[in-house]
Amino acid sequence: MVTTHNLGFPRIGAKRELKFALESYWKGQSSREDLLRAGAELRAKHWQDQAALDLVPVGDFAFYDQILDMSFTLGNLPARVRGFHGDALDNYFRVARGRSAAGTDDHACCGGVAAGEMTKWFDTNYHYIVPEFETGTQFKLDASRLLAQLAEAKAQGVKAKPVIIGPVTYLALGKAKDGSDKLALLPRLLPVYAELLATLGAAGAEWVQIDEPILVTELDATWQNAFRAAYQSLDIGAVKLLLAMYFGQLQDNLPLAAALPVQGVHLDAINARDEVKALIQASPAERVISLGVVNGRNIWKTDLEATLDWLEPVAKTLGERLWLAPSCSLLHVPVDLESEHKLDAQIRSWLAFAVQKLGEISVLATALAQGRDAVSPELAANRAAVAARRASARVNSPAVKAAVAAITAELGRRQSPFAVRAAKQATLLHLPIYPTTTIGSFPQTKEIRLARSAFKAGTIDETAYTQAMRAEIEHSVREQEALGLDVLVHGEAERNDMVEYFGEQLEGYAFSQSGWVQSYGSRCVKPPILFGDISRPKAMTVEWISYAASLTDKPVKGMLTGPVTILNWSFVRDDQPRSVSCYQLALAIREEVLDLEKAGVRIIQIDEAALREGLPLRKSQWQDYLDWAVDSFRITANGVRDETQIHTHMCYSEFNDIIAEIANMDADVITIETSRSDMELLDVFDDFNYPNQIGPGVYDIHSPNIPDQAHIIALMQKAAARIPAERLWVNPDCGLKTRQWNEVIPALANLVSAARALRAAAA
Ligand code: GLN
Ligand code: ZN
Repeated sequence: MVTTHNLGFPRIGAKRELKFALESYWKGQSSREDLLRAGAELRAKHWQDQAALDLVPVGDFAFYDQILDMSFTLGNLPARVRGFHGDALDNYFRVARGRSAAGTDDHACCGGVAAGEMTKWFDTNYHYIVPEFETGTQFKLDASRLLAQLAEAKAQGVKAKPVIIGPVTYLALGKAKDGSDKLALLPRLLPVYAELLATLGAAGAEWVQIDEPILVTELDATWQNAFRAAYQSLDIGAVKLLLAMYFGQLQDNLPLAAALPVQGVHLDAINARDEVKALIQASPAERVISLGVVNGRNIWKTDLEATLDWLEPVAKTLGERLWLAPSCSLLHVPVDLESEHKLDAQIRSWLAFAVQKLGEISVLATALAQGRDAVSPELAANRAAVAARRASARVNSPAVKAAVAAITAELGRRQSPFAVRAAKQATLLHLPIYPTTTIGSFPQTKEIRLARSAFKAGTIDETAYTQAMRAEIEHSVREQEALGLDVLVHGEAERNDMVEYFGEQLEGYAFSQSGWVQSYGSRCVKPPILFGDISRPKAMTVEWISYAASLTDKPVKGMLTGPVTILNWSFVRDDQPRSVSCYQLALAIREEVLDLEKAGVRIIQIDEAALREGLPLRKSQWQDYLDWAVDSFRITANGVRDETQIHTHMCYSEFNDIIAEIANMDADVITIETSRSDMELLDVFDDFNYPNQIGPGVYDIHSPNIPDQAHIIALMQKAAARIPAERLWVNPDCGLKTRQWNEVIPALANLVSAARALRAAAA
């Protein structure tokens, strides 16, 4: 017998029920009871979806974020949310998003408090609320949430396995606000964890899953010791502990993890299959070994027979000690393929979402327990799907493969060095110093969204749609001219999303209807599915940009999303390295760059908003990633003439570790997000003597606040103290699509007048 279980289930709901319940509650349109009921219904539904498993996760549901839940369980909430009206859930939302629901609180003057900082959960696109610590932080158990969910599960006959974040990962992911040593809190934290385990044991939990994904990252001796101390002190026999590690390999941490006194360990056998043997060997003879054999990070069907080929001997060794699960929580995949009705049938047959992945676990377990014959129809169907995908002409294009094989260093090299290009571009473009521009998008108004959905629904035809978009482009060009901006954009009205827009026009991409994945809180993304070799049947942006250019004498920037960002925001192939998919995207976008140039576009911006976030979990793997990522950008961008000015844009400003690679991209201009950091983040460009031009953002587009002229001038003066003025641009932090025109116009007017004042002062 093999035990099957799951590490976590997506909580947002197949129809994003949680999102809508939350948003309506926050707006004051539904009651607290409605929200609680929606949560309970989702939990019940999801436990039902997992009923075939031997153990089902409980406590993986969160109204906002599972790490924030853990902070509340540990009684670690920031001082600033204490002393408000309301209860724990009000405070929970205050930390999550700066305010509770409408009408329940808060300070009448400002409506809220500073929201907790959010950051990426390992190398996923999920964002968690960063725990906050200080020297004086005290912990105090509040097990009410977990106990209530456990009771709820029991009442529904669920074979419950509570899931919590382990103490070392919890500390490691948090931030000491006063710069103190987080690890010094461990002795205070552990008794609360011990009490939690005892409480769960007393409530009838046999096993508790304790997640320590930090074990797949590089840990120094201090952190390794923290693990030893922590698990020694949790070894109190209250429950059986399943230590869960996922997202990568243990490497140096394997002996450490294997030596911890726990009754079970879960290993990500997708990313760390090579370590399975060593982990078993290093484990005590009676320990449970849980193997994550179905990929919890992608949407592809598992090759079940290939999995059984390596799993059968392992199962023989382990017998009853073997547990099977997905590699990690299924939080990172959409809920149910059954909701997809429009997806191309063939591509659909290659896919598995959360529910289907759990089905695969059951088939594998049955095959191990009763032999493959017991599931021969399931295996045959799986074999057919996997083989069809592998052999499909839609997946494999010999021409694309040949083009990637033919890539040379030449392809990524500009004709002349920056100084030569810059001089030629200056002659051609005639820009003043402190040239002004924007990052690409203008407000996505209700009219734009209506036109798009009408076109999708077929209620307006293509001519009418094009007409509507042209009107928007004309409007944004006129506004920019009136504002006096130097380099204009077309405004990106026709783009629903900066990745999806390109994916929809490339061969090799498919789109789900409701393949939503939680990004943070109520926010979801629907990553496009990169399934095949990538090619570009025809130009994607040239008509829109050319139309904008026809309306003005000012230069209009062409706007593209770069290959690395397209890759990092998609579900990607598991049948070839990410680098290969990235090179294919690079070649396709390069063609677009060259077509824009041919059409007379003199400035082309290639956004790489997600380049930094693609960095691997271990620093030792960074260089490899950066090599092919930067290479891909260079292939995309650098086929143009000296006179064509290449811009790139990145939505962040922490370049400390990667500044050499950023410089190596060799874009003529880079625009970045700096307004909140008071330009301090430009230091790294200064120290590195970054040679090309920079547009440090001076308008925080995440805020409804309108920066005044003096503020912008002050920021630019700080920038000019670090970067020579003749290499500076004046622009917002990022695109303006989430703002309103009535905010954008005054903000940009101030930006233009600030640039004029700076020019006058420099003259
Ligand atoms: N050009 C895009 C825009 O302006 C860039 C968005 C981004 O960097 N995320 O919206
Ligand atoms: Zn941006």
